[in-house]
Amino acid sequence: MSSLVTEQAAFLLDVSRLVQFAHAEGWVLTGGELWRSPEQQEIYFKTGRSKTMNSNHLRRCAIDLNFFWNGKLIWDKELIRTVGEYWESLSPKNRWGGNFKGFVDVPHFERMH
Ligand SMILES: [Zn+2]
Repeated sequence: MSSLVTEQAAFLLDVSRLVQFAHAEGWVLTGGELWRSPEQQEIYFKTGRSKTMNSNHLRRCAIDLNFFWNGKLIWDKELIRTVGEYWESLSPKNRWGGNFKGFVDVPHFERMH
């Protein structure tokens, strides 16, 4: 098995743990983007929705999740922090977009190279 597949599988296993954790905390989660095509990444880059052409979404090692509380979509970093910190506790390779410097991306969870 290639090392990329190993990384992708470890990432997805952590995502499953994250979803269970968030559910237990009372969140309702829905899935957003996981894999992103290079063409789509270029559109996001050109329109400012992404700041990189080296996104972990291109490697299937990032996911965007929608967080709902009482039926309302939540973007507030501080409200989601507990889940973000749990994500980073699962692996030293895990990064939560809520902790990004500059371009904060609260719904984004990724595994670094
Ligand atoms: Zn993302």
